[in-house]
Amino acid sequence: MLYNQVQDLKGTIRVYCRVRPFLQGQTNGQSTVDYIGENGNIMIVNPLKQGKDARKVFSFNKVFGPTISQEQIYVDTQSLVRSVLDGFNVCIFAYGQTGSGKTYTMSGPDLTTEQTWGVNYRALNDLFQISKERADFVKYEVGVQMIEIYNEQVRDLLLNGLNVPDASWVPVSSTQDVLELMRTGQKNRAVGATALNERSSRSHSVLTIHVYGKELVSGSILKGCLHLVDLAGSERVDKSEAVGDRLKEAQHINKSLSALGDVISALAQKSAHIPYRNSKLTQVLQYSLGGQAKTLMFVHISPEVNSIGETVSTLKFAERVA
Ligand code: ADP
Ligand code: MG
Repeated sequence: MLYNQVQDLKGTIRVYCRVRPFLQGQTNGQSTVDYIGENGNIMIVNPLKQGKDARKVFSFNKVFGPTISQEQIYVDTQSLVRSVLDGFNVCIFAYGQTGSGKTYTMSGPDLTTEQTWGVNYRALNDLFQISKERADFVKYEVGVQMIEIYNEQVRDLLLNGLNVPDASWVPVSSTQDVLELMRTGQKNRAVGATALNERSSRSHSVLTIHVYGKELVSGSILKGCLHLVDLAGSERVDKSEAVGDRLKEAQHINKSLSALGDVISALAQKSAHIPYRNSKLTQVLQYSLGGQAKTLMFVHISPEVNSIGETVSTLKFAERVA
């Protein structure tokens, strides 16, 4: 039985592009975003090029400009999130170069300000809210897991172990519970890192919300899963500069982001073979990518002129998976 209207979700892969505003102190900068159309088009201008080569249009399901609020972003995400309560598996990714706003979209700038909460907390709030509304019909249980994938190794951020067993779920019954777990997760993420920002931009973090529902009358069981993934920064590292650990990290990131792109584009093309085994990330998410599962990729771009190269490669990556 479906409780939500999910017919607007034709196809299983959608891509939203979000443009970060200029940061404080750079408000007078020239923007590489020429215009944003209403139908999901964005025109990029490259000030280093002349004539018709200077402008290029990319098309997505939606494009969010720099003034779009966190709340508005969630409005366009919530039907997907809510479908988890009907037993769907959903993956929401944040892709983009470091500093383009991935963590802002997923978590928000800090945990304390509700107004700027990101997709993660809004999704959890929503899930708790709706499950309460349905309490006369379905009994839901919610569990969360938080992992980090760094150099192709998985680390559990809540129970703090390496090599995550499937059972590392923590049951939660309120947003408050979740906020406390997030704090634990963020603290654990910092362990062993010289600087938190550095580390977080070079690892993928995956928050998984597992929903188990029992319909009271029929006794039938619903199982849904929501993965909220803040990906490692997609910037290309200059091979002539990176050495040792930094080079290894960069190679792992390149490998896993291209493996993710390969999986999603194979799914989009309904290819017979989906190459899940090529990275830890796609292995971890295997059962939530493809089949009946739904995928949303937020691709983030920075408006600054000196990001133009990364902006164009981000948009190209996104077009490939759309
Ligand atoms: P990333 O996770 O991709 O490295 P962040 O989310 O940390 O990037 O964003 C970089 C900076 O830009 C942060 O200071 C963040 O608060 C700010 N920022 C990002 N997106 C927005 C936005 N939509 N509105 C306001 N500030 C933003
Ligand atoms: Mg980040």
